This record gives sequence, C-alpha cells and structure tokens, in this order.
Amino acid sequence: MRVLVINSGSSSLKYQVRETGTNTIEAHGLIERIGEGAGGSADHGAAMDQVAAELEGAPAGKPLDAVGHRVVHGGERFGEPVLINNEITRAIERLNPLAPLHNPANVLGIRAITAKWPHLPQVAVFDTAFHRTLPEHAWRYAVPDSLYRRYGIRRYGFHGTSHEFVTTRAAELLGVPLERFNAVVAHLGNGVSLTAIHGGASVDTSMGFTPLEGLVMGTRSGDLDPSILIYLQRTGLDADEIDTLLNRESGLKALAGINDMRAIVDAADAGDQRAQMALAVASYRLAKYIGGYHVAVGGAQALVFTAGIGENSAAFRALVVSRLGALGVTLDAGANRGRSGSARVISAAGSAIPVLVVPTDEERAIAEATAAVVSSIHG
Ligand code: AMP
Repeated sequence: MRVLVINSGSSSLKYQVRETGTNTIEAHGLIERIGEGAGGSADHGAAMDQVAAELEGAPAGKPLDAVGHRVVHGGERFGEPVLINNEITRAIERLNPLAPLHNPANVLGIRAITAKWPHLPQVAVFDTAFHRTLPEHAWRYAVPDSLYRRYGIRRYGFHGTSHEFVTTRAAELLGVPLERFNAVVAHLGNGVSLTAIHGGASVDTSMGFTPLEGLVMGTRSGDLDPSILIYLQRTGLDADEIDTLLNRESGLKALAGINDMRAIVDAADAGDQRAQMALAVASYRLAKYIGGYHVAVGGAQALVFTAGIGENSAAFRALVVSRLGALGVTLDAGANRGRSGSARVISAAGSAIPVLVVPTDEERAIAEATAAVVSSIHG
C-alpha cells in the first residue's frame, strides 16, 4: 500500500511516501516556516499544495492509497490507530488543551488533506496510544481527583509509536514471544523517554501529562520540584516565560550550553567541565529510572536503546551502563562502538541481561498501522 505519512507541526510539515509491501521510502520532504510569510507557505493548506506538487514531480508518481497522520495526543479515548472522519477530527480537536503546540497542527494537517483529497482514507496514529495500558497506580498523580475529572490531569506518556516499534523488534531479535517480553526501552533523542514493558505492553513511562516530565532532554528539564514553578511565578515570571524556560532553555542546553549530544561528548573529551557535568546529570538520572523500571517490570529481560542518541552515541550508552553495576549489566566495548543500521546486541557475554540497540522508524510504524486500518476496513 502507498501511504503518505504526515507529521504536522505548528510551523513545519514533514512527510514521507512509504510503500508498505516493500518497506521503501518513495519520497520525503520537509516544509518549514508555515505561516511565517516571506518565502514560507501561507498556511497548512498551502503547505499541502506544496507537498502535492513535490509528489507529482516525483518519478514514482503512482496514486496514494492512504494518509497516515502522527497525532501527538489521543487522550484517554484513543488506544489504537483510527480511521479519520469528521467526528474523529473533532475529538482530536477537543484534546487541543492537552497538547496546545501539537494537536492543533495535527488537525490542520488532517483538514488540509480532507480539502485536497476528500476520498483518500486518513488514519490517525497517536503518540500516547501505546501507553493506554498503564495501570492506574502508574498514571495517577497524588493530587485531588477533581483535577483529573475536570482537566484530565494524569500521566499519558508519549513517543508511543517508537516504543511499540522498538519493543516488537527487540523481542524478535531475542526470539522471545512479545506477550512474554519484559524490558526497559530508552528512547534517547532530542526528547527523551523511558518505558517499562511488561508482557509486551507499556506499564510505565517517564513522560507524563506533557512531554516535560521525566528525564533530562535536549532543551527540557525533566523532573523537578513543582514548588520551583510557584517560586518562579512569585518572582514575577508569567506562565509563558516559565513554559519557555523549562521546555526550551533547560536540559542539556542549560547544563552544557549546547544540546547536540555529539558536540557535548566532544567538549567533555576536550576537558569542558560543564559538558562533563551535563553528561553526568543526564546519565545519572537515566540510570536511576532504569533501575526503577527494572523493578516495575519484575525483572527486565533486556535494556534497549533507540533514537538519535540511543542509536548513535556509544559514549553516552557506555556512561549510562557504567552506572548499572548493581544490576550486573555490562557492555562489550567493541560491540558498543560498532556501527550498524540494524538491531544488535551490545552487551558483554557475562552481562546479567542483554543490552540492545534497535533503530526506531516512526514513519514506517505509522505507514504500517495506516495500511492495517485501511485494509481491515476494505476487508
Ligand atoms: P532525534 O530526536 O532522535 O533525531 O535525536 C537527536 C539527538 O541525537 C541529538 O541530540 C543529536 O546530537 C543526537 N545524535 C545524532 N547523531 C549522533 C551521533 N552520531 N552521536 C551522538 N549523538 C547523535
């Protein structure tokens, strides 16, 4: 099936055309500066016109069979990919307050496709969906129930498409049936999240109500004492300023002055003490969470690294695993340094559990989920 995968952000739109039968990428592109005038597309409709023009110019100009949208927030309603209709679009729109930067852009992308290709089936694949299996003791915050009932304040989790894809690949690589697979999966990219997998399902994850909770990220703080927000507000900062501070000015960027892991590792090697401390804070926090999730799943059968840093930074992986001595986890230095585009084991023969690197591919997962929904409907 030929699927157009759309990842629509507030001012950018990424797309890929995937042939799911052969798992090939037939076209891809990125449209930036939407709605910013001067050289950019005027709005998401105009951006979609640009995508259509680029696709018509592509050599493999076969018709599309379906469109798959990455939708960030599926709330409590969406635990599976769904075929989009007007009611579903409105339901996604009603979740806007939970993901104010992302869901409105996703809805604009859906409406732009509906206007352009009204007969093309569209499927929404939600970043939160894989975490719909979190037990209540993992998703509840210890705050009054009215906050949950009135505002939906609970933990949702994100990066679900990636965690699900990587979990399935890891179980395959180890030859363990998915429904009996327990693991800890670390998605380490610009955003960072850890997921506890029990019986192939997500039972805990480090991101919460928003993607700000949890680990140290490129520009996000992760966990901190919530009183800091109250304190900052009392110093005169408003909500938008605190939002910017914690989402865009914190994390590795705050600690090291830069947020690119390659540059941080190079600076640390060259003796930069801020870069060294940034790596120490990030790896320490991650190791603590890994220990916690090992307990949460009743003993993981594997530790899995994925995404930009998880797949490519041997130095950061080594730093994290060096803090897991209590679990008996050790790396094979050669295997850890080795490069490969496919899933592999990087732990030492004597490691208590295998450590894996599994490349993630969210577009592939979205294309395959879209094809599965569309073929189940066309029977
Ligand atoms: P992602 O969000 O998955 O694209 O990951 C982005 C992060 O991956 C950035 O922090 C990059 O610095 C990091 N990254 C990408 N390639 C490498 C590499 N070869 N070595 C270290 N970090 C990398």
